[in-house]
Amino acid sequence: MDGTDSQEVFISNWEYDQAPESQDHIKIDKRYGLFIDGKFEEPKSKKYFQTTDPANGKVLAKVAEASETDVDRAVKAARKAFKKWSGLPAKERGKYIFRIARLIQERARELAVIESLDGGKPIRESRDIDIPLAANHFFYYAGWADKLEYAFPGRKVKPLGVAGQIIPWNFPLLMAAWKLAPALATGNTVVLKPAETTPLTALKLAEIIRDSDLPNGVVNIVTGAGETGASLVRHPDVDKIAFTGSTAVGKFIRKTIAGTSKKLTLELGGKGANIIFEDAALDQAVEGIVNAIFFNQGHVCCAGSRLFVQESVADLVISKLKIRLNSLFVGDPLDKNTDIGAINSKKQLETIRKYIEIGKSEGGQIYQPDCTLPKKGNWCPPTLFLGVSQSHRIVQEEIFGPVLTVQTFRTIDEVIEKANNSPYGLSAGVWTDKGSKIFHLTKKLKAGVVWANTYNKFDATSPFGGYKESGFGREGGLHGLKPYIKFE
Ligand code: NAP
Ligand code: MG
Repeated sequence: MDGTDSQEVFISNWEYDQAPESQDHIKIDKRYGLFIDGKFEEPKSKKYFQTTDPANGKVLAKVAEASETDVDRAVKAARKAFKKWSGLPAKERGKYIFRIARLIQERARELAVIESLDGGKPIRESRDIDIPLAANHFFYYAGWADKLEYAFPGRKVKPLGVAGQIIPWNFPLLMAAWKLAPALATGNTVVLKPAETTPLTALKLAEIIRDSDLPNGVVNIVTGAGETGASLVRHPDVDKIAFTGSTAVGKFIRKTIAGTSKKLTLELGGKGANIIFEDAALDQAVEGIVNAIFFNQGHVCCAGSRLFVQESVADLVISKLKIRLNSLFVGDPLDKNTDIGAINSKKQLETIRKYIEIGKSEGGQIYQPDCTLPKKGNWCPPTLFLGVSQSHRIVQEEIFGPVLTVQTFRTIDEVIEKANNSPYGLSAGVWTDKGSKIFHLTKKLKAGVVWANTYNKFDATSPFGGYKESGFGREGGLHGLKPYIKFE
């Protein structure tokens, strides 16, 4: 455990311009403990689970499963550290957070490879988006630590205490950064629970945190399954729960903490509408549609999973879209030419396949390019569904995979009505040449984020979050500080 018993993974077929050759070997320990009070420890549960590579089913490591007792140890460590951490001069806190950002940058290549191995996403995405953006979140919130008086003028700001943070498997390190950085900047201490299928980069982050000399107990990382998360939610000495995941678990958490004084933020599911008007730059829009739905295999809460095309250009857009789909490469996540990697888990693959069957049985016309999928592992080709309407389940329910529904519209009012006819309210995209249409739609669409002539653009300075069944509270930017503070 903890570096003593490790295996080397040789990475081939991936170039990284500045990387020294020695870094072609990425070390993954055979067994990982829980990160509590600044060190890796055996779980009191004595239980371990396996995390695998979804591209081939190979076991990558055994990871500790935290029991209720283990979660309690982590919360106690966080509570003990709270007085020291919240009492530090704010600029000192900022320096620690800055150091974590720098260490993520230094280990960026290793983190990118491990993210792709453990979760199945294309290396191009983990290298260019997940890891740099994770570092940026720490840099950004390091800057806020000693400027809270400017963020909230005239108010005396205090941290909440111990934050319990639960994250999903689609952006493992990035979600950890989204949650940890603002909590630390505002003086809270944390117990973080990564997802069961993708714990490895959170454990590498634990090494980084240890190496950053952050005071012991300020960040604790407890791996495990849903029950570990539930123990954290139930724990009486946790002051705040920040959760990103499914709407169903979000509702369960809401019920569990009802009647307690715990604070809560929920980042849940989505069913983003991507709207193309006839005056849009169509080639650019088609690229945008492809990125909006196939980025990270469609395992994206804000994915543009419902396409609405203005009727006059629908045939043209659909034919361009099919041509583009035919050129997407589905395969090895570590190949830098891969566009669509492995589906994160067998369970998620079954869910996607179930929805594809539902789409067909409800009369949708399916289009999938003729691509050769690897024999082992979890794969799904990019999929379009034409001939669907608002009442189809694949239009209403979140699939969380590379499946795009395509509908047409004639007028702006019609498309606003259709786009808003969803239980979710997280994201939308608008493609048009007219600024006036963009401004009109950003007001009318019930979505936490609306992109114009682009999609899936993220930045540490921008708030992100939803309405309706997509949850409440915002992460990112100045807004991301608010869920972690109280005013005196
Ligand atoms: P999930 O099943 O809700 O899991 C999310 C996290 O909660 C995981 O760490 C999970 O542990 C844990 N968990 C499961 N049951 C729990 C319980 N009863 N109490 C406490 N924690 C529990 O969701 P997922 O399948 O990982 O992620 C996909 C969903 O997340 C999608 O619906 C997607 O839209 C949403 N999402 C939203 C955002 C956003 O920002 N709005 C971002 C990303 C994802 P295990 O992994 O061990 O089961
Ligand atoms: Mg895995």
